Amino acid sequence: MSEGQQERQFEKGAGSVQLSAEAIATRVRALGAQITQDYSGEPLHFICVLNGAFVFMSDLVRRVDLPVTMDFLSVSSYGSRTESSGEVRLVKDLDTSLKGKHVLLVEDIVDTGLTMTYLLSYLQGRGPLSVKVASLLSKPSRREVEVPIDYLGFEIEDAYVYGYGLDKAHVGRNIPFITSQA
Ligand code: IMP
Repeated sequence: MSEGQQERQFEKGAGSVQLSAEAIATRVRALGAQITQDYSGEPLHFICVLNGAFVFMSDLVRRVDLPVTMDFLSVSSYGSRTESSGEVRLVKDLDTSLKGKHVLLVEDIVDTGLTMTYLLSYLQGRGPLSVKVASLLSKPSRREVEVPIDYLGFEIEDAYVYGYGLDKAHVGRNIPFITSQA
């Protein structure tokens, strides 16, 4: 089945979220250009929040024309997503120091904002020159704490989405587009 056919299969249902591979690629290219311009030749250290941000990060770094380094971390939340306690646990730590580096934290989606709040405070404590945030998606209607998103792909409504790195019950990360359809 072609990518186009796959996408058309999901083009149904009111109130659903659909972002095509083309729409995502266009937005990621624009974000990469903006980041390249904003840092004007300065080295930039990307930090990918595993697992969900791995596809976004890999596309984004290739659209940024700067001296780039990168690292990866992983967190898990205690409790279920719907009754998030805000307690976040670091599952995989960074391998390299942040001292003297401009850092760009790359997330897949900001929902309540609790994970991002934890991560920003954790990274700030490690002595970077600056920390900014890139998130592919944001669900503003779900926010419990305000978090700054310096580079945002798309605002979406409150629906559970997967594809393009995000999973649904551990599968679907390899789908080249984003959908909320079952
Ligand atoms: P927050 O702490 O509530 O902002 O949750 C952020 C994390 O929840 C994201 O990094 C995702 O791992 C997960 N998440 C929230 N909404 C979705 C969704 O619609 N699809 C997949 N993962 C989600």
